[in-house]
Amino acid sequence: MKELTRYKELIKEMKAYEYVMNVINWDSNTEAPRGSHERRAEMMAVIGAEYFKRSTSTEYVEVVEYLHQRIQKLDMTTRREIIRAKKALDKVTKIPQEEYIAYQTLLNLTQLVWEDAKHNNDYSSFKTNLAQIIEFNKKFIQYFNKADHPYNVLLDDFEDGMNMDKYDAFFDVLKKELVPFVKQILATKKEFKNPFETEKFPVDRQELFSQHLLDTLQFDRNRGLLKKSVHPFTWNTSPFDVRLTTRYQDDLAFSSIFATIHELGHATYEQQVDSKWANTLLAGGTSMGIHESQSRLYENTFGRSRAFWSYELPKLRKLFPKQLKELSLDDMVLCANKVQASLIRVEADELTYPLHIMVRYDIERMLFSNEITVEELPQKWNQLMQEYLGVTPPNDSLGVLQDVHWSAGLIGYFPTYALGSAYAAQIYYTMKQELDIEAQLSRGKFKKINLWLKKKIHQYGGSKSPEQILLDVTNEPFNPMYYVQYLKEKYTELYLK
Ligand SMILES: [Zn+2]
Repeated sequence: MKELTRYKELIKEMKAYEYVMNVINWDSNTEAPRGSHERRAEMMAVIGAEYFKRSTSTEYVEVVEYLHQRIQKLDMTTRREIIRAKKALDKVTKIPQEEYIAYQTLLNLTQLVWEDAKHNNDYSSFKTNLAQIIEFNKKFIQYFNKADHPYNVLLDDFEDGMNMDKYDAFFDVLKKELVPFVKQILATKKEFKNPFETEKFPVDRQELFSQHLLDTLQFDRNRGLLKKSVHPFTWNTSPFDVRLTTRYQDDLAFSSIFATIHELGHATYEQQVDSKWANTLLAGGTSMGIHESQSRLYENTFGRSRAFWSYELPKLRKLFPKQLKELSLDDMVLCANKVQASLIRVEADELTYPLHIMVRYDIERMLFSNEITVEELPQKWNQLMQEYLGVTPPNDSLGVLQDVHWSAGLIGYFPTYALGSAYAAQIYYTMKQELDIEAQLSRGKFKKINLWLKKKIHQYGGSKSPEQILLDVTNEPFNPMYYVQYLKEKYTELYLK
């Protein structure tokens, strides 16, 4: 089909523009001096406009429409790609341009409004913008999907195949099983030595340990690198260039260690995607949920395990002999898995984390079902925090204003974080049957673990849907009970025995 050949050529050209914009973004998030901001924005605007022109050109639209109408004639992978292309196209072409621009302007403005509101603990100065963002989203959804519940459209946007029914079932299990279990764990008031909360850990030594982690986890430095940034993230343009960042603060050594391992999970996924997808829309990890499942598998399941630290604690102690002199392996594992009913999501531990997500899911769901107004948000937030975690935020900065997501128009995104952890647990139980994970971790070996994940998940990139991946790997559709089982087994062992 000559249209398919032309489609591939057009995508390759757009990929080149994406490449340039990505490299500039990496630079601006890591190395670029502050003073370069305006000049960069000016140059980026030119490149961005060119990219937009190409991605909405008459030729491209016609080719995608042509292929979409003949989708049955395409092979399964190309079909998946064309569906993605059409979905993305609908979003830019069906929304009237002036509304789209007005929305982007609103988001830009809201960023600063939210920052000030959070800083001044002033929800009332933020709520009008938030209401406008929600209204825009409701309106936009009408343009390309009138039939479905608006929140379903947003949920599916962030995780292929997900909707309220599926998430409701998932969070209902968590409410029933985890809320009481968390209360039981918190009631133990377990005490242990925690030098990570009392000692200072010089940053230069933390950097050495992060570099050592790259080697332990077998990160390919020939196709990637590690830098620092305020907020850790993973960046890539293809499997040939995968970069990650972490942050260092001398009173937050734990934060750098686990941020590094978390981002290494994302980065390993990206490095192991088959390069044959690089010039297609199926490049990179398949969804937010599956991506997060990989980072959390590495960070929480492997990186916070006893087996892992039995190998790594002596190495960490060599770098920090004074700080860690008296820390036993038992206490180290407890430090890495300390349970706390915290107010802030990004500081939450593995066990309480999904409860923070539940608060956000409930609120988004109610907002898009018109069961609550932005006016009532802070009160609802506090009530749910009390219900799930047993704590009430003393102010909105530590409550409803804490996350950047809503101000950036990211609604329907939060649930993928919890879903990722639940996917990870389901994958873990299959992996455990086929591989002696503990034996690998206790010898600091990641080769077999990485290979297993490459073979089962990573190599496919976006060519399989999240549902398909889970089914192929675990022989079962998504089942949240693995997550509950995983958390209960782990935290019973640590806190109740
Ligand atoms: Zn992540």
